Amino acid sequence: MHLKDKVALVTGAAQGIGNACAQALLEKGCKVGLVDQNAEAGKESKDNFDKQFDTQRTIFIPCDVSDEGQLKDAFKKVFEHFGRLDIVVNNAGINNENNWEITVQVNLISVIRGTYIGLEYMKTENGGNGGAIVNVSSIAGLVPAPYQPVYCASKHGVIGFTRSIAGASKEKNYGVRINTICPGYVNTPILQTIEKEENMGQYLEFKENLQALMKFYGLLPPPLIAEGLIKILEDDTLNGEVMKITKGQGIHFHEYSPLPTPSDK
Ligand code: NAD
Repeated sequence: MHLKDKVALVTGAAQGIGNACAQALLEKGCKVGLVDQNAEAGKESKDNFDKQFDTQRTIFIPCDVSDEGQLKDAFKKVFEHFGRLDIVVNNAGINNENNWEITVQVNLISVIRGTYIGLEYMKTENGGNGGAIVNVSSIAGLVPAPYQPVYCASKHGVIGFTRSIAGASKEKNYGVRINTICPGYVNTPILQTIEKEENMGQYLEFKENLQALMKFYGLLPPPLIAEGLIKILEDDTLNGEVMKITKGQGIHFHEYSPLPTPSDK
């Protein structure tokens, strides 16, 4: 996809990985709907982008992605404001093992819902222009994370959903490619949550183990994840892929062995 003048909606765009993704999309000439529940940080990030890019190229929409009505409204606002939608980055996510239901709600259910709403706007059978959806998972979507079991489950869910809906989108000729990005530890404010009882609950006692893991694997800079996003968006051959981004191997793809199908017989 040629990114200039395309319209993107990024959730969790006020800080961290989402903010770096919005920055990279703007640098490529996109217009971006910045969606986040943190109104203060969201406005600050819009102000920051206004210093670098034409103010018309971004809008900030305060929205809790786990609220169906708010999420639908956010998509509607972006579509009506810019007149089209080409890219959705379902990035907003949390680490909360204490109130774990909300982790499933934000990290998995909202990603599923964001994908379905995005498809309604973008799929060609509805008169859309086609496009691309990128769902942010994690390396914890591929391996166990003993001190973050529900976070891990939610991120595994994102990968299973994304690979499956990508196949459906292809079979149904929606014209929308759907992929996932799995970063290792990234240097963003979410990492501070491992020190908080309200986030870690019964696993707080393993704080040092998590800190040791981060030290061992190293922290990635957020712009590297944005680089992975741009790579997925610009390569029209990618659909249902699981991009991994790690300190050791940089940007690369997870390889799965092919599954047998009825036509193999
Ligand atoms: P972050 O906490 O720095 O930023 C997350 C953003 O999402 C914040 O601006 C926050 O306000 C927003 N957000 C959270 N819940 C929301 C909700 N219900 N509605 C709307 N906005 C909401 O975290 P980050 O590191 O930038 O994480 C972004 C994504 O990357 C998450 O899905 C996270 O799980 C994933 N991830 C992060 C890491 C890491 O080590 N930082 C590694 C792998 C995957």
